[in-house]
Amino acid sequence: MREFESPSSINTYLLCPRKYYYRYIKNITPPEDIILIRGKIIHKVIEELFSIKEISNNYEFELKIIALDLLNKVWNNNLETIKSLNLNETLIKTYYEESKEMLLNWVNYTSGKIKQTNLSPTESFNTLRGEREVTIFSPVLGIRGVLDTVFDDKIIDYKTSSRDDITDEYKLQLGIYALLFREKYKKLPSYVSLYFLKFGEKEVKITEDLIKETEEKILFVKSKTITKEKEEYPQKTGWHCKWSTGKCPYFELCFSNKNS
Ligand code: SF4
Repeated sequence: MREFESPSSINTYLLCPRKYYYRYIKNITPPEDIILIRGKIIHKVIEELFSIKEISNNYEFELKIIALDLLNKVWNNNLETIKSLNLNETLIKTYYEESKEMLLNWVNYTSGKIKQTNLSPTESFNTLRGEREVTIFSPVLGIRGVLDTVFDDKIIDYKTSSRDDITDEYKLQLGIYALLFREKYKKLPSYVSLYFLKFGEKEVKITEDLIKETEEKILFVKSKTITKEKEEYPQKTGWHCKWSTGKCPYFELCFSNKNS
């Protein structure tokens, strides 16, 4: 059994045990894709924006200019990796334009929050910054998680997905975050929310049922991942093996006759 699972490894097991086996038992790291790289770029830009110590009364306009400038810089720093994916130029441009839109949405959302307070723009911005990238290890749960933002007793997780459905995977992720939060701060968060950069914020209620369901799923995955025997990690085929624009990174390995 691995010492620490993560929301992502738990979700991987539930999606397909064989995929978990390749990723976490055999430690085969999947190649990066544009979705993953773009997600990292956006997170990096938001981190840089939150490192600003002072904002003026004209913050909405200024933050937009800074966000676009930062995007350009961070995107260019990743350009070689993006080009190595061999995507066509139009698709790369689409992702870039969409990233601009997401960051401008983020500035609108943040500006809206700043306006709601009676504080000065800088004070309000500093409050919204909260604690960033909070890593929590829980020896009790055997789980490690990184929370994007914690402020007061709230958790916000940023998503760059192309849809804003609260999927079962997201619910489990937030349930795990709530459990980690409880272990560190000795209480449950008052709310957890997903901020979809393309669509806006969606709150998820932390109910007794969600906590119970999350604990059961953690226990289930822990009990199933004690062994390193491949046969104990069955293939679970479905849409997630191959879809119109992509496939599971282990597809060839999984369906070849090689014994790996
Ligand atoms: S190809 Fe399908 S069955 Fe195989 S590891 Fe990936 S998700 Fe699982």
